[in-house]
Amino acid sequence: MKPFEYARARSASDAVGRFGPGAMYLGGGTNLVDLMRLGVAGPDRLVDVSRLPLDTIAPVGDRLRIGAAVRNSDLAADPYVRTRYPMLARAVLTGASGQVRNMATTAGNLLQRTRCPYFQDVTRPCNKREPGTGCPAIEGDHTNLAVLGASDACVATHPSDMAVALAALDAEVHVTGASGDRIIPMPGLHRLPGDEPERDTVLDPGMLITAVELPPPPPGASLYRKVRERASFAFALVSIAAVLDVRGDGVVAGCRIALGGVAHAPWRAERAERALIGGPATGEAYLRAAEAELEQARPLPRNAFKLPLARNLIVRTLEELTP
Ligand SMILES: Cc1cc2nc3c(=O)[nH]c(=O)nc-3n(C[C@H](O)[C@H](O)[C@H](O)COP(=O)(O)OP(=O)(O)OC[C@H]3O[C@@H](n4cnc5c(N)ncnc54)[C@H](O)[C@@H]3O)c2cc1C
Ligand code: SF4
Repeated sequence: MKPFEYARARSASDAVGRFGPGAMYLGGGTNLVDLMRLGVAGPDRLVDVSRLPLDTIAPVGDRLRIGAAVRNSDLAADPYVRTRYPMLARAVLTGASGQVRNMATTAGNLLQRTRCPYFQDVTRPCNKREPGTGCPAIEGDHTNLAVLGASDACVATHPSDMAVALAALDAEVHVTGASGDRIIPMPGLHRLPGDEPERDTVLDPGMLITAVELPPPPPGASLYRKVRERASFAFALVSIAAVLDVRGDGVVAGCRIALGGVAHAPWRAERAERALIGGPATGEAYLRAAEAELEQARPLPRNAFKLPLARNLIVRTLEELTP
């Protein structure tokens, strides 16, 4: 591993002040340190932000503020989160293992990098790691990669389960940096690859996530479902965070659907939502909405299986949420 300086920040402004060329923030280190060992990341300086006083979960009026340094285990176990945002607690619990969740932070989880096998292998070219070198995944192993919103430059998927639930909950990500504070509505934190796959998010270098804020939970029932190759310690092939509000007369009053494992960012299924709201809460309508969303998919030969998987997951989850 390349030698690096280590500095522990005392406050958010101290962290921003200590950031400079070649620096990276360190959360729990469960992704970044792995990437440093693999030679994928090689910071000159680590600014440790895992012990900043940003480790509380607190209601602010009718909203909930989750500090960037809150550990994934504490978030999933928080009684307020479990009762008011059970979909979020569920999403976090489907990720990684108990040991990893004890270390991993809210901000680090959102900013973890893709698990595309070529990105993690420094002996192979990869546009995300080294812009302009090519994307071997398109002709090679893309089984677990994107079917929506990908580009000729990159077909990677974003791995976070938490981010999918936050996208469905209309969460806001609070950031600070040398040029001031910013609030980024989810799913707008993560970007599609386009011709700049090296940029995972809209954050500029040195911007520090300080918190995630949740509006009051939307009306209706909610669920997070994750399909994966084995029951634990596996990233999503496809996942869904869904909220469905059905009126007494069987009409859909509100609906939110976010998909994971299908794109470079959590994918808010806006076409499906629009197709459903104001219509009947029936299996047939759910199927039509899923198909309307997935019409825009561009699968590769070895990941076309994700389309029926996503379609069935949307339909089954909405059926389960129907009163
Ligand atoms: C075996 C294994 C299985 C896993 N399975 C899953 C899974 O199924 N689902 C899932 O969602 N996750 C999974 N994970 C990922 C795990 O959840 C992430 O590694 C973890 O959430 C990253 O959090 P961290 O605090 O350790 O981040 P770090 O590794 O410390 O940092 C990650 C990135 O975030 C940046 N960063 C950290 N904090 C801040 C901040 N405050 N502001 C700006 N930038 C910051 C760092 O610079 C770095 O780029 C798995 C991990 C492992 C090791
Ligand atoms: S899909 Fe993206 S991350 Fe994977 S090899 Fe291609 S450019 Fe690299």
